[in-house]
Amino acid sequence: MPKIKAKKKKKKAAKKIALKVKKTAKEKIRAEIKPHLAKAAKRTPQLLRGFKDILPTEQKYWDFVRKKTKNIAQIYGFERIDLPILEETALFIRSVGKETDIVEKEMFSFEDRGGENISLRPEATASVARAYINHGMLNLPQPVRVFYLGPMFRYDRPQSGRYRQFNQVGFEALGDINPVLDAQMVIVSCNIFKELGIDVNIQINSIGCPNCRKEYKVQLVNYYKSQKSDLCEDCKARLSKNPLRLLDCKEEKCMAIAEDAPQIVDWLCDECKNHFVKVLEFLDELEINYNLNPRLVRGLDYYTKTVFEIWPESNEKKAQNALGGGGRYDNLIEMLGGRPTPAVGASIGIERTILRIKELEIAVPEPEKPDILVAQLGEAAKRKALGFYEELRKEGFNIAESFAKDGLKNQLDVANKLGVKYTLILGQKELSEGTILLRDMEGGIQETINYNKIVKELKKRLGQ
Ligand code: AMP
Repeated sequence: MPKIKAKKKKKKAAKKIALKVKKTAKEKIRAEIKPHLAKAAKRTPQLLRGFKDILPTEQKYWDFVRKKTKNIAQIYGFERIDLPILEETALFIRSVGKETDIVEKEMFSFEDRGGENISLRPEATASVARAYINHGMLNLPQPVRVFYLGPMFRYDRPQSGRYRQFNQVGFEALGDINPVLDAQMVIVSCNIFKELGIDVNIQINSIGCPNCRKEYKVQLVNYYKSQKSDLCEDCKARLSKNPLRLLDCKEEKCMAIAEDAPQIVDWLCDECKNHFVKVLEFLDELEINYNLNPRLVRGLDYYTKTVFEIWPESNEKKAQNALGGGGRYDNLIEMLGGRPTPAVGASIGIERTILRIKELEIAVPEPEKPDILVAQLGEAAKRKALGFYEELRKEGFNIAESFAKDGLKNQLDVANKLGVKYTLILGQKELSEGTILLRDMEGGIQETINYNKIVKELKKRLGQ
């Protein structure tokens, strides 16, 4: 008996301590945010730097890009996958790589209330690989083809075409080593831009496998060491941390040094070489516009063999304005604890694609306009008009209303702004007579129509 009592006492004490810890943590958070809140309370909250509101006027571009990409995804057999925006930070450290810019400088990482370190996803391939393992997708027919569409977050220096929240559409084919899949990723990406009316140029390279890269890295570091004094500070650090990234530094002096650097294609093992040759043969077969770019490395740890980027045709030199990119990642799933599973993918930045659409003044479909506006005069008519609006909606008409406004002039102004073909006017007189006024907005002619015949009449006039 005393034993049980002592146990209960101990449990109670532990609970008390846990509660106290929780309370202290809460107080700590409160104390931390209090000065920020006090400062922020004095002004209207602002949009965060590098973040954007996508206003209704912009939506036509988004609809256009989403529709075309979804359509292509479907044609090529990619099924939609939606993944969480928050993931364990470890996922990105183990996949994208500890020494990469993304993980080192650009992640939005924080501790959640349970003390777990989590991050807003900077990209989605790692999440796709995690999902592939978590859901046992290796048991599905391979390759598993999925596509995603959604926001990514990188604490990047904001500038045109570079945001801290941006959207990507991405395609992944997991579970097959065949080089035809690499080529297909390039083809799918090209076809999306073709559908959107944007001319692109593919930059392509092979960065081999860890085996052939080992010897190459030694050669690369030797070459760069001989030029060390001329390198930028970042590149000096890259020499020991991430030598492949030396090749895609955007500093002018480093770009000049990269010109004469040893090229990885000369160090590829037979398997990687054959794979790359086949990818290029497939692209040649379809006459895809590509450039062999020995300096393209893509920088993330998980890439193997083929890497590529999609550049807008006219400003090939501006690599930071790449519209998309991708490559093979044969070791990623194993790096995350799954069985060895080759895979390949591509992703396209939607904001940059939309910027390009605007630069090229490509016409995008306008949102569908309503054909009819229902106007009302007086309280009783307003009540009747509400029901009438629902009736027309169910009949499939594209209609608008301005119920919050009174007075015919105000409502006709709205009708004109919306560009409707007809305004239906319901007033006291019409209500008592069981009729409705049909106003042709172009000529301004008004006709009285029997309430029961109006649906038929509208269908006739609108050709429905
Ligand atoms: P990445 O895998 O980093 O090459 O990203 C693929 C594509 O996403 C890029 O080609 C861009 O179109 C887009 N992207 C990457 N980072 C950003 C950013 N910070 N802001 C806007 N778009 C981005």
